[in-house]
Amino acid sequence: MLMFARSALARPGALGMLLLLLILVLVPGTGREARAQAILRDAETERFMHDLAAPLVRAAGLDPGSLEFYLVGDSSINAFATAGQRVFFHTGFFVAAKDVNQMQGVMAHELGHIAAGHAIRWSEGAAPATSISLLSLLIGAAAMAAGAGEAGMAALAAGQQLAQARILAFSREQESRTDQAAARYLDAAGITGKGMLSFFEQLRGEEFRLAIPQDNAYGRTHPLTGDRIAALDQVLRASAAWDRPVDPVLQARYDRIRGKLIGYLYPLETVEKAYPAADRSEAAQFARAYALHRAAFKDRALKEIDALIARNPDDPYALELKGQILLESGDPKAALEPLRKAVQLSRNEPLIAGMLGHALVQASSDGEEPAYLAEAEQVLRNVVRRDTRNPLAWLQLGAIWELKGDGPRAALASAERINLSGGDPRLAARAARTAMAGLPQGSPDYLRAEDIALAAKAEIERRGLDERRTPRPSQPR
Ligand SMILES: [Zn+2]
Repeated sequence: MLMFARSALARPGALGMLLLLLILVLVPGTGREARAQAILRDAETERFMHDLAAPLVRAAGLDPGSLEFYLVGDSSINAFATAGQRVFFHTGFFVAAKDVNQMQGVMAHELGHIAAGHAIRWSEGAAPATSISLLSLLIGAAAMAAGAGEAGMAALAAGQQLAQARILAFSREQESRTDQAAARYLDAAGITGKGMLSFFEQLRGEEFRLAIPQDNAYGRTHPLTGDRIAALDQVLRASAAWDRPVDPVLQARYDRIRGKLIGYLYPLETVEKAYPAADRSEAAQFARAYALHRAAFKDRALKEIDALIARNPDDPYALELKGQILLESGDPKAALEPLRKAVQLSRNEPLIAGMLGHALVQASSDGEEPAYLAEAEQVLRNVVRRDTRNPLAWLQLGAIWELKGDGPRAALASAERINLSGGDPRLAARAARTAMAGLPQGSPDYLRAEDIALAAKAEIERRGLDERRTPRPSQPR
């Protein structure tokens, strides 16, 4: 599943909003102007980024458990690291990188910034700007999830402007030292540096020959001098891993994700040009399935995805996409079977389970199936325990509790959703207090509400907000 921090396509009107967002994301920029951004969530891509980074993370001496990887919906070629050990890759990077080895090289470089504490120092040097920009990425995604499209866009655009300004502040000297660290990680992990070198050379030469125009932001944020590339070239060639081939399994996984992203992001004609019908690779089938689904060709999309499933009936991500197509084209009951199987095969991957929960809620509202609602509640409770970045799951849980007449828990879900998405802390505090008033004192849900109330109170004080002027809550639907 690919979603802008949530999946909202099942709602009437949501498709239009999403398409508008995509158009804004895809407007090619000349560089410095604000650009809309959103965090894209996809189980397969997130798993892939973790796995790709794992040997490099070990080589860098970092703790894999404290790193977070994000996919940003932005067509420019960029990747960056920030405070909190977060690494961001733009969708434009996936589209532009020729092979997985190029991504390994850039991943090593970004981990170098984190290991050297650059991102952390950068945050200390400019704390307000950094936190606003990062937070607004998430606020924007969540605001859009809540239906506040325009407000979300504004928050995202402002955040991006600030982030850009700060990223540009890296010095050439820092970059050169980070390159050398990256070369050491690649060597220790037994990964060739050919991709890193070819990527940097391409960036400098602007030699990207793509069907889709890309804006080279990495080139601007990372001043690439001839000296820097020459120094890197020497170190990388000296590694015993220089002539080692790239892991074909990792390459195949990368190709699939690239296909998915192209299918998800670009118009059907562009996708069909990049992946003509004669191309029967998994990447091509994923790309066409997404693009056909987005263009509302349900049957053709299902044909592509069924061909993929026929090839590998235990592919959780192909089953997930089949469920997504069925759910979003208004057949939630049919979506249940592939989604249940995908959840099982992925060992309860929370994003896929979240979609199953969504499908169960939809299916229960179609007919009189109270059992679906009970199952959805259980599934979604499990999701929010394991994934703290899924405001949509809280939205669904809130709807279930609302239906059941469980006011205190519905308030808890609102508090969680507002808190998680960086919304107005006065609203989060009010919802948390409503929840506490109705929940058994000392129960896990009560304690959770208390935590949110305390965090919101601290945030209200930090921002100097007046609680007597709490705005009216906006309707999430
Ligand atoms: Zn850098």
